[in-house]
Amino acid sequence: MNTQLAIETAVCAEHQRLFAECERALETWNEHRAEFCVSRLSGNAAGDELVRLQAKYARAYTILQRHAHACLLCQLVSAPEGLGSVNRSEAHSDNTLYF
Ligand SMILES: [Zn+2]
Repeated sequence: MNTQLAIETAVCAEHQRLFAECERALETWNEHRAEFCVSRLSGNAAGDELVRLQAKYARAYTILQRHAHACLLCQLVSAPEGLGSVNRSEAHSDNTLYF
């Protein structure tokens, strides 16, 4: 009887876990990037660390996207947002028509 309501209000635990992992990787990358800019280190070690952190974030983001495409629950939850982003990109391309 309450099955439909349960689906609508449910949050995908796996998506939450992947999203948190992705956010943490992005935060760490941003922190290191800020430190890198302030101290103006030009050493290869600091640069390598930044590249490594960026790759870690990119990998976490890819896993999150892959899950969102494969997970039925995530597709149900994110459907309205997907339509909104399409409208936004169309509005943006309008600005570049008269060049
Ligand atoms: Zn999911």
